Amino acid sequence: MSAVQRVAIAGAGMAGLAAAILLAEDGVDVDVYEIKPELTALGSGITLQGNALRSFARLGIWDEVQKQCWSQDVLTLRAPGPDATVIATIPDARTGGPDFPAAAGMFRPDLAQIMLDRATELGARVHFGRTIESLTQDADGVDIKLSDGTTDRVDLLIGADGINSAVRSMVGIDVKPEPTGMGIWRAFVPRPAEVTSTDLYYGGPMYIAGYCPTSEDMMYAYLVEDKQDRSGLTPEQSVEIMRDATRAYGGPWNQIRDSLGADSRVNYTWFTSHLIDGPWNRGRVVLIGDAAHSCPPTIAQGGAQATEDALVLCEILARESTVDDAVWEEFTRRRLERARTIVEASLQLGRWQLNHEQGDVPGLIGRIAELASVPA
Ligand SMILES: Cc1cc2nc3c(=O)[nH]c(=O)nc-3n(C[C@H](O)[C@H](O)[C@H](O)COP(=O)(O)OP(=O)(O)OC[C@H]3O[C@@H](n4cnc5c(N)ncnc54)[C@H](O)[C@@H]3O)c2cc1C
Repeated sequence: MSAVQRVAIAGAGMAGLAAAILLAEDGVDVDVYEIKPELTALGSGITLQGNALRSFARLGIWDEVQKQCWSQDVLTLRAPGPDATVIATIPDARTGGPDFPAAAGMFRPDLAQIMLDRATELGARVHFGRTIESLTQDADGVDIKLSDGTTDRVDLLIGADGINSAVRSMVGIDVKPEPTGMGIWRAFVPRPAEVTSTDLYYGGPMYIAGYCPTSEDMMYAYLVEDKQDRSGLTPEQSVEIMRDATRAYGGPWNQIRDSLGADSRVNYTWFTSHLIDGPWNRGRVVLIGDAAHSCPPTIAQGGAQATEDALVLCEILARESTVDDAVWEEFTRRRLERARTIVEASLQLGRWQLNHEQGDVPGLIGRIAELASVPA
């Protein structure tokens, strides 16, 4: 018997859809409210670490993800400069265990579609273009008012509405994402044939230049710099700036540079970070994923952690018969320190670069891989 029968979720990202899948699978009545009018997820590619892939198996979507992603087991370090000299090819840790590759690159909208299909197939209702405007709660449930004027009463409200979570504000948690000092250019481009796994270039004018294949045909490429005010640029100006910034890098970057254009989804954003340092619930409202914690993608764990939040929460709810303190104590115990360690490590990697310090990068990455290898 589940602790909840009727649940509302704000946000149809990885965290919200993972929770919707697991709850619907348990026979819970689930409504997901997504602010965007449709699922044309912005963004380009995402690197999914092994522990995210292991979670996808639990969600019943790994087979489909596997068909559409680009699996990889190594990471290559290259030098800036015209030759893009290979410095090292390093086996990447299989944090999801031996049944999953170390990592997979994927086109974000493809992943979103797979998760949406699975959630709806199991009976979750996903409403686009609708949000939760206000809420009140008592010991037994949460009353929500929706943007279309309708109301509902649910046993639990999950705020999975991302880094600028409206649900977080509604329950009075005033933690806000803070800029870390870096900004990232990203683009979605054809995959040069020689690119078969993630390549990272440290040094040159950028902190990091890199790319990750997402399919036979495509990949995403990125450049990390000191954060700058890049607001107000036309798409053409963004393409031109990103193209210019690639000139210090050769090898596959020559083809990337030539292919950058209007359809490359060139995007610029600052790295930010936050963590709710304490329970992520207020009564029967709980925050998961980026609504609760976020970090720069220096170890690409954001998606994995968002999905793990949903897995742990839904596992506890399925086992318990009521939503009480024991649920929240266990959820906090299993999630807070793990998320904190990942956020701290992601920030540390960025800080070493910003301060031009030679930190123990392999040691830190190794410790995170060890942590991520243990199922949440
Ligand atoms: C530049 C960059 C690169 C990254 N690269 C990686 C990577 O390679 N690998 C990785 O694992 N992670 C990466 N991340 C982090 C990763 O994208 C997030 O951790 C992950 O998407 C979190 O999922 P989420 O569902 O919590 O939030 P989101 O994916 O942000 O989903 C939240 C959803 O809620 C919706 N929403 C927002 N407001 C409301 C509202 N008021 N009502 C209803 N719906 C609302 C949004 O439209 C969205 O669909 C990266 C992040 C950044 C910024």
